[in-house]
Amino acid sequence: MSISQLAREIKESPTLKLNEEAMLLKERGEPVINMTAGEPKNKAPITAVLSSTAKLREGDVKYTPVDGTRALKKAIIRYTEETYGRMPAPENVIVSTGAKQSLYNVLFSILNPQDEVIILAPYWVSYPEMVKMCYGLPVIVTPEDGSFQPRFDEIEQAVSSYTKAIIVNSPNNPSGAVFSEDLIADLVEFCEGRGIYLIMDDIYQKLVFDGRRAVPGYAYTDRDIENTHLIVINGVSKLYGMTGFRIGWAIANRKLVEVMTNVQAQTTSSPPAVSQAAAEGALTGMQSVTENLRLSIQNNRDILVNELRTFTDIHFHKPEGTFYCLPDFRAYGSSSVELARFLLKKALVVTVPGGEFGMEGYIRLSFTGAAKEISEAVNRMKWALDPNAPNEIYIGDRKMVRDWM
Ligand code: PMP
Repeated sequence: MSISQLAREIKESPTLKLNEEAMLLKERGEPVINMTAGEPKNKAPITAVLSSTAKLREGDVKYTPVDGTRALKKAIIRYTEETYGRMPAPENVIVSTGAKQSLYNVLFSILNPQDEVIILAPYWVSYPEMVKMCYGLPVIVTPEDGSFQPRFDEIEQAVSSYTKAIIVNSPNNPSGAVFSEDLIADLVEFCEGRGIYLIMDDIYQKLVFDGRRAVPGYAYTDRDIENTHLIVINGVSKLYGMTGFRIGWAIANRKLVEVMTNVQAQTTSSPPAVSQAAAEGALTGMQSVTENLRLSIQNNRDILVNELRTFTDIHFHKPEGTFYCLPDFRAYGSSSVELARFLLKKALVVTVPGGEFGMEGYIRLSFTGAAKEISEAVNRMKWALDPNAPNEIYIGDRKMVRDWM
């Protein structure tokens, strides 16, 4: 079988393997706790359900304009105005099948072979792979001070004449960090000055805790959407917990949106009509849904943080947003895949190895689950990793036996 060189270079995800193993264990009735979820547990907002079922009931479900329905674009324009104080034209907006497709369309539309894209570690797993899929080169910048706050001078040093774009994701998956206003301001000024695209992946924009705010890039440029180098990515997946509807969008200058529309037209055509109706329903419905979701996730964050504080030998930064925490487990070994496998085998807790995000020795814990499960998961991990803990404990009626790794 002949497989392209490019396709061969796309990384297999150890997370999927771990999830498969976890699924098998669950099917066998084992009390597995899954801390990998990249989605909140809530039900879709009622306004999303109603507007998509109305579309289904019509039965007239067809292709829509490639770049999205007029009604959804109108709702996105309003969202952009309310969230960012910017008013894009419909031609500045392209709706895609998830923010993921929006990002891919952007990269495909701006990159020539060997162009470089700066990615800040820890990073969302798909960024480097997407860049490679567009024949670009990911350039990873990892903060030297071990914090999750990227440093502008370190980013600047990584810029070369081939740098086409910098991707910024704040609030950040997987660290939960919200980047400082100074960093965003410096990056916007730098990119506008140098003509480098600044791709702001704002998918977790509203999931910020303790009264903080994730400052939007737009706050630091006077240029209008037509002339700025900022490209803003968003979607309903995290905002409303509507991952399965697969609706995201990008805001950029008209020319770029036109090119992205051609790319999308030749690959997937329009995003699904029923999902677009759902996204429109969510965006035009009661926005208290997002606030309720944020509050329940903040509560979960507090539970996780309190539990993690009792864990000696691990270090972590308290998440300021998203639903992820990325503790440093290097005291327990250098391979995060081995550690994640061990935690699954011994503690029946599924986690994501930090190596996937460019942070070897770290483990990503998602706190979207039930509060009770979060506490229990940490306690099981503590037990599994503590050499002085009793060798056997019972979880429900299941006897767990600890093996030192
Ligand atoms: N960006 C980041 C940082 C994400 O974590 C995700 C989803 N895990 C996405 C983009 C993609 O979101 P969507 O479901 O809209 O494709």
